[in-house]
Amino acid sequence: MYCEEEEKKREKEEEKEIYMSTFAIKNAIVVTCNENDEVIRDGAIIVDDNKITAVGRTKDLEEKIRECDEIIDGRDKIITPGLISVHDHVIGHVFKGFTEDGAEDYFYKHCFSMETFLNPENSYWFAYAGLMETLKFGCTMINDLFHYSQSTAEAVEDIGMKAIIQHKVFDIDLNNLQHKNYERFYDAGIKRLEENEELIKKWHNKADGRIKCWVGNHAPDTNSPELLKAGRELADKYGVGIHIHVAQTVQEHEMINNTYGMSSVKFLDSLGFLKDDVICAHLAFADTEDIAILERTGAKFAHCPVIMAKFGTFPRIKEFLTSKVPMAIGDDWVTLNPWGDMRAAIEVTRAVTGEALQYAIRAFRMMTIDAANLLNLGDETGSLEVGKKADLIVIDALRPNLVPMKDVIPSLVYNMTGNEVETVYVDGKKIVDEGRILAKDEIEVMRKTQSLAEEVWTKGGVWPE
Ligand SMILES: [Zn+2]
Repeated sequence: MYCEEEEKKREKEEEKEIYMSTFAIKNAIVVTCNENDEVIRDGAIIVDDNKITAVGRTKDLEEKIRECDEIIDGRDKIITPGLISVHDHVIGHVFKGFTEDGAEDYFYKHCFSMETFLNPENSYWFAYAGLMETLKFGCTMINDLFHYSQSTAEAVEDIGMKAIIQHKVFDIDLNNLQHKNYERFYDAGIKRLEENEELIKKWHNKADGRIKCWVGNHAPDTNSPELLKAGRELADKYGVGIHIHVAQTVQEHEMINNTYGMSSVKFLDSLGFLKDDVICAHLAFADTEDIAILERTGAKFAHCPVIMAKFGTFPRIKEFLTSKVPMAIGDDWVTLNPWGDMRAAIEVTRAVTGEALQYAIRAFRMMTIDAANLLNLGDETGSLEVGKKADLIVIDALRPNLVPMKDVIPSLVYNMTGNEVETVYVDGKKIVDEGRILAKDEIEVMRKTQSLAEEVWTKGGVWPE
């Protein structure tokens, strides 16, 4: 009896150790993204279970570090917050590499119609492959709007990342869009909105709180005014946000202007759709009056410089950067490299304005703390500060593209490929180790993704080439 009790006690303690273990990384460069953009050389960070309990100079934290269960030497390493992308469609990985040269035409002609060949199973694998790409580059959280949103939720849960997920809601026929045919199928739209509600009921705050669910009205042209209003009501009912494309393409811009006699932003505002819980992606055609409406309503801007540059359009970036509209950066789809996004946010801005407007530190904040704030999660993630969740990445600084290093954040933003990311922690749990994802065998996922993609391309008439 006595022995049994001892055994139980020991088991309980072991259990406690698994869930409440502490670790410290010391002697590293720590990029905090706190309000002073503090970078601590010879820095250390201590994590207890899922939270950061100390950040500072190694020598000031020695005593606390000694008490940790695991002590990691971070010499020649840089620790930063996990990166956050505020606009994604990870299942769109099935369109990687062969759709980008076609820009907008290809988008309507091939992508939208090929989306009809997706199903819950292949979508899971395309989502997982997309997450795998961006996670290995240091992204710990995405904001994703697409079909088969529950497959995305499953992939996020399995790989160990964080996400806000919405279901793609629209009431046109995707095959008609290439012919600029906007015939409405309202009942199908309401069914999709019901699927969005199911997603919220099933997945909101699930996976230990790593997954949150919002409403995903796709765009002003692909949604009737009635469906947009119904989406607004659903978001209000559950107290969640809305993620929508706005003024994304020439086709949308022209359709909204021709049909309603106003811009996409004005149209949404006229429906009472815009509030401070709405994230508008792209805004490529938003003008000065539209920017004033966004400022008044508090609606936010997910800027996607890479996909916009591929489309050959770009928002009025100088006006946005100097406006009060909260903004952060998103990957969008097919190329999910946050470092490339940050560089494009700087370089394309300078190319289109002829001015040195955007800087490395701001671009970095737009994929860390500003991104967390955009998603209403700035209190729990996006920076390395005491009390926040331990969402962080460890970068190998001893790479030819990173030395010599004087100013840390610009060195990273201008030179990282993403392959220098060695370790990724989400909620204090290691999900990437030595550059490898721990959840599934990467090679198997990639082979499976390739064969499933070939099936979709065959149905879409673009395979074999
Ligand atoms: Zn998008």
